[in-house]
Formats: sequence, structure tokens, C-alpha cells
Amino acid sequence: MKKLIAGNWKMNGNLSANHALLAALAEGLRVKPACDVAVCVPAPYLAQVQSLKAASMDVGSQDVSAHAFGAYTGEVCAAMLKDFGVRYAIVGHSERRQYHAESDALVADKAKAALAEGITPIVCVGETLAERQAGQTEEVVKRQLAAVIHTNGHCISEIVLAYEPVWAIGTGKTASPEEAQAVHAVLRAQLKAATDMSARVKILYGGSMNAANASSLLAQADIDGGLIGGASLKAADFLSIIAAAQ
Ligand code: PEP
Repeated sequence: MKKLIAGNWKMNGNLSANHALLAALAEGLRVKPACDVAVCVPAPYLAQVQSLKAASMDVGSQDVSAHAFGAYTGEVCAAMLKDFGVRYAIVGHSERRQYHAESDALVADKAKAALAEGITPIVCVGETLAERQAGQTEEVVKRQLAAVIHTNGHCISEIVLAYEPVWAIGTGKTASPEEAQAVHAVLRAQLKAATDMSARVKILYGGSMNAANASSLLAQADIDGGLIGGASLKAADFLSIIAAAQ
């Protein structure tokens, strides 16, 4: 399966910094990479990123409303994202689960709203450090994925899944390739039980992936790409991870 390397800029950037980053990425991606590449950017910069991005790169959002339209001040719906050529929408990132109290059910509804507009949700699941230490990793990620399967039925084969252990995000601590693979295998089995088309679902790893550790993580059987936070803000690092995915 073709791997996917997706950057998550989080709430970083400004017009001039984005310009420089996108120019460096476009230069580095002049030869089309063998993997799929995307950057998930703050909503105000979608138009800028669309106009400056490398042709081979897709654009994503970092969230999407569960609602189609209406009186939801501050939210951005999937149809609006579609207007700006958005291909992917991250849903259920741990920072949204944690700081915005997003429930498993809401995350599942957001995935459904994205799919309804032909946008691929990148559904994030992952355990906290306390949950890992309590031996609950499998139970937590299975519960989070089960909600998305329940709400999305056979469309589940259209999602991208991202395993992001919360303790590894932005901390410099990465799951070892073996630890990550073990969870990816659990998620793969759960998808297999839910759909005949599970083989087409990419399962990304996210959590302090960088130029140095990308190759060993991406070499694992069930790791189909990466969701990259901090390292996606530095063109050279992001390009090295893309090269590791070829
Ligand atoms: C993320 O934000 O999804 C992420 C994985 O961040 P980082 O790579 O900085 O850990």
C-alpha cells in the first residue's frame, strides 16, 4: 500500500513563515514522491496553502464540524473545507479530545460529516501514559475505533486511522517500532472484523516521529505512514520523513 505522510502544523504559522515552508517543500517535492503527502493546516491558511503547495501535495484541515451548516458559531463544516480543496480532515486529535472534551461519539460524527463531503477523515486514537501504565492501551484504542465503526458502518474502509499515543505527542518520546506495531496489529484486526475492505485502510503512526526514527517505524508491517507534528514545520525534516517512506 502507498504510504501517507501527513503534517499537522497545529496552531503554528503565519503568512510569511508558511510561504517559506511551502516554497521549500515545493522545491523538495519537484520530483513526485512515491508516497502520498499532505499538510493539515490552520483553517485561515487553507487558501494560501492551496495556491503555494507542491502539485503532489494534498491539503488537510485539523478538525471539522459534526454539523452540516447553521448556528454553530466558530465551527467550520466539511462543505466549506471542500470549497478550499481539502482532501483530509484530522478528527479526534488528542489535543481536541483533551482540551475540548471531544467524546468518542462526537469524533465518530465528525468522521461521518467529513465522509459525507468526500473528505477523508484522519481519525486519531491513542492512550494516555496513565492508561498505558495501567495496561489499558488495547481497550482504549479499541473503544475509540469502535465508536467510529459503529457510526460509519461500511464507510469505515474510507477512513485513514492514526495511532497516536498521547504520551508520545510533542514529548520527544516515541513508541518503539515494536510497541507501535503491536497496537497497529490490534487496530488492523478490529478493522478486518468490521469490513471486507480493511486492507485499504491506512494506519498511520504519530508521536514524535522525526527524520531519525521514521525509517524504523515505517518499516513495520502495519504502519502505513505517519502523522507528523513538530517535524512537519521544518522543511528538511519533513522531506527526510517523506524520503524514508519511499
Ligand atoms: C501530532 O500533532 O499529531 C503529533 C504527532 O505531534 P508530534 O509529531 O509533534 O509529536
